[in-house]
Amino acid sequence: MRKYHNALGVAAALRPASPVTLVRPHAAARAARFFAQRFPGLSMYAVKANPSPDLLRTLWNAGITHYDVASITEVRLVRSVLPDAKLCFMHPVKSAEAITEAYFEHGVRTFSLDTQEELDKIVEATGAPDDLWLCVRIRVSSDHSELSLASKFGVRAEEAAPLLMAARQASDALGVCFHVGSQAMSPAAYTNAIALVRAAIVEAGVTVDVVDVGGGFPSVYPGMDPAPLDLYFQAVHDAFEDMPISYSAELWCEPGRALCAEYASVLVRVEQRKGNTLYINDGAYGSLFDAAHVAWRFPSALIRSEPSEAEFEAFDLYGPTCDDMDHMDGPFYLPGDVKAGDFIEIGMLGAYGAAMRTAFNGFGSSETVEVADEPMFSLYREDEQGAEIISITGRN
Ligand SMILES: *Cc1c(COP(=O)(O)O)cnc(C)c1O
Repeated sequence: MRKYHNALGVAAALRPASPVTLVRPHAAARAARFFAQRFPGLSMYAVKANPSPDLLRTLWNAGITHYDVASITEVRLVRSVLPDAKLCFMHPVKSAEAITEAYFEHGVRTFSLDTQEELDKIVEATGAPDDLWLCVRIRVSSDHSELSLASKFGVRAEEAAPLLMAARQASDALGVCFHVGSQAMSPAAYTNAIALVRAAIVEAGVTVDVVDVGGGFPSVYPGMDPAPLDLYFQAVHDAFEDMPISYSAELWCEPGRALCAEYASVLVRVEQRKGNTLYINDGAYGSLFDAAHVAWRFPSALIRSEPSEAEFEAFDLYGPTCDDMDHMDGPFYLPGDVKAGDFIEIGMLGAYGAAMRTAFNGFGSSETVEVADEPMFSLYREDEQGAEIISITGRN
């Protein structure tokens, strides 16, 4: 992969007429080290947030050994890129064929479920072995999160006892899992969810070997500045310690966004300006799906060799397709003299950005280059600077 210093270097060298993804492996590695070292349990990467093989290798090299996969295609992908990775099939509704292939061909032993039917399916598709790790997905509130995951999956905690007991019978290790929703803005999301799960375990009277607190750990975006991740980890740790579980029980988490949001940004070109609306060459069917469909806000920067001196103004963006819905309200703050032909970098698109891209209407390029500069925002920088100072002092 070609390497440049930053977005300006890419714009100057390539003058790209199609959007270019800029990746920062150092930022993803830093996030991975942070989780691997500081989360008080095991961190597994939720592959759907960004399945890029380069990113998977980066996370692996930085200490992430477990991967949360949700489809047989993700199972095959991670297995081919990382032959020694541990894969956990955490989609509660799977096809029997996917379960069979995952178990027999790819060594998957951990599966999630939220109904008796799914439990029966897993047992049948794997031939009722004695080495299944089964995680019962419990429905918890998404009240503290920007994107809800509270309706689609999960057995209600008050109704979970029979399923927990049945899964206990069929498993070598029994786990409970949940997802508080994506971009959880408060550690209380986890405290509240664990309290709910605790009640379900007590009612069922089962021994639990794994507590998996799922994803939802936040990144930083305009208007969304979460508490430090250490406070989330502390809240999870405290609530976990207080659970009625065996002394050897394991604590897991499944971060997607928090591990890869800082990994990528996109360099786009302005094709036309109408008032404070810019027509750019990437959009709702490309890496800006969330900006268009859930009004997610991303940071932006005008990329010019001579920095503009104009005052910043609020802009909205149209993507390249002919669809009216290909519109990103933003606001995106850019210098007021931005014009057709200018390049703009849109940041924090490593999670649910590249992964959402389609080729609709003939748009959707996937050229990717590496850049060495810092992401526009970071949850991990201060920590890294601290670590660097320590290592420099150590060397002297
Ligand atoms: C999407 C998903 C994740 C990752 O969620 P983030 O909010 O990106 O951390 C983790 N676990 C499951 C089961 C998911 O569906």
